[in-house]
Amino acid sequence: MIQGVAAAAGVAIGKAFVLPTWEWDVPDQKLDTVDLTREFERLYEGIRTSKHEIESMKTEFSEIAGPEESSIFDAHIAILEDPEFMNEIRGIIERQYKAAEVAVQEATDHFVTMFDLLDDEYMKERAADIKDVGNRLLKHLLGAPEVKLPSDNEPYVLVAKELPPSQLVHLNPQHVLGIITLMGGKTSHSAIMARALGIPLVSGLEVELDTLVQTGETVVVDGDNGLIYVGPDTDTVSHYRKLRTQQQQRKQQLELLSKVDSVTRDGVRVRLSANISSVKELEIALKHGAEGVGLFRTEFMYMDRHALPTEQEQFDIYRVVAQKAGGEPIVIRTLDIGGDKELDYFELPEEENPFLGYRAIRICLDHRDMFKTQLRAILRASAHGKVKIMYPMISSLEELRSAGDVLDEAKRELDGEGIAYDRGIEVGIMIEVPAAVAIADLLAGECDFFSIGSNDLVQYVLAVDRMNEHIAHMYNPYHPAVLRMLRATINAANDAGIPVSVCGEMAGDERSLPFWLHLGVHRLSMSPQSLLRIKQSVLHTTARDAGAMAADWMKLRTSHEIERELDIYIKAFQAVMNQDQKLASLTSCKAN
Ligand code: PEP
Ligand code: MG
Repeated sequence: MIQGVAAAAGVAIGKAFVLPTWEWDVPDQKLDTVDLTREFERLYEGIRTSKHEIESMKTEFSEIAGPEESSIFDAHIAILEDPEFMNEIRGIIERQYKAAEVAVQEATDHFVTMFDLLDDEYMKERAADIKDVGNRLLKHLLGAPEVKLPSDNEPYVLVAKELPPSQLVHLNPQHVLGIITLMGGKTSHSAIMARALGIPLVSGLEVELDTLVQTGETVVVDGDNGLIYVGPDTDTVSHYRKLRTQQQQRKQQLELLSKVDSVTRDGVRVRLSANISSVKELEIALKHGAEGVGLFRTEFMYMDRHALPTEQEQFDIYRVVAQKAGGEPIVIRTLDIGGDKELDYFELPEEENPFLGYRAIRICLDHRDMFKTQLRAILRASAHGKVKIMYPMISSLEELRSAGDVLDEAKRELDGEGIAYDRGIEVGIMIEVPAAVAIADLLAGECDFFSIGSNDLVQYVLAVDRMNEHIAHMYNPYHPAVLRMLRATINAANDAGIPVSVCGEMAGDERSLPFWLHLGVHRLSMSPQSLLRIKQSVLHTTARDAGAMAADWMKLRTSHEIERELDIYIKAFQAVMNQDQKLASLTSCKAN
């Protein structure tokens, strides 16, 4: 067993195909002065061909994984257009009289080494992109053949030293069971693409490729735990086969529920929407029966790039999301960076306590132009679907009003430019800071909806950093203090007559359903992967009984007592659910 980085979830078992390293032999030719023009022509021709190739890969990948995921190829085109990279190549040809391929290789090596030396994971990943682009250019200059992946029909586990996006794009998810790469981490473009394609990926292995595995050997990829097994014994294979079958069966069973209405046994409707951060995730969510989007985490769209996205770039994505949701509401949360979410090109101060620091709306209100650009993009998208705006981390009325001022300014600008938007667009806030709970009645008077961000609310109420593994056991959403905060928020929203939903991880935990039914929350937003599991719980729950139980749990005095009750409840509930399913399959057998 070898431990690596769990970069994309899932289990794969199959024969390995080891991809030969994509490296060229470049002869160190020197030129005569007269050849300079020819070398430049060859270089420009190579750049043109490479660009075409990348463009067509982008189109190809876009069809498989959606326009947003494929936009990473723009980064490769940007490298081919980068003045510093190009000047370095031209300089080597011009001043050192070297052939175009030699210049490309030297310039590529120079930038790759420079980026590799930086103590920054993101920049290291970018070094891989430069290498990929440099290799592509070299391939054209040398007229070398591309390394081809096996095209026979037997699915395989792909093993490579590194797998640049340009090679990953050619993979057919039907043929590639799993991927192992020696290099790369969770934030590499390739990891992002593998996750988008649903291919299990383990990367970051500290071994040599030729000693790891040979083509044809059996391997197991455990993308959930970052493990690989080369030549696994029969017990390991049968364990993972069983696991894979169980995962697939459970998935298939749940998929049957995607079109079923989410209603409790006694007729209480619980709307289930999705938390997404990309178009692709929306597509998965819609397949899983999501009723719109309760939280679009837009900050991920700002990451994995070199500069802030423009208004048009943002509008294009928001519009696609709004249109694909087919009239269901889309709640777009404005930029929520800071804490554990950084942008490489946007300098944030070094802080002792980043989660108590410069975060989310605080940053946006300080960078009004950046904020207004996002609001304009969201407003423009509101002409194409049911779009709502949501501000993160609001802790005072002043913040809510200041954000409203920027929004008004954006609306005035669009009016002046004659650009359409939904004039009745709803504006809500996340309730994730205790201060917001304490003044929830005041906030409810000045916004259209609340969404409870339990992830942050729990950490701030309990003073337990959500990232700190030493106190992870203290991070408890079922602490009486948290439950009281939830009750206060929901009561304030109900009193003010505004809708309240939950979009933190608690929404995807079946144990919390009785609390929502008791407190009067009928909208939950969660990861696309949790939707069908929670719908199954809703369908098997009687709201009246579950709500009455939760009312009793709310009276308990310690987390320990509450959790004990929740354990008893969930075990009994699962037993009833299994019984229901058995009965249902017996009845359908008889009917047939
Ligand atoms: C939350 O805090 O509950 C939430 C949904 O926001 P995030 O997890 O993105 O901070
Ligand atoms: Mg939050």
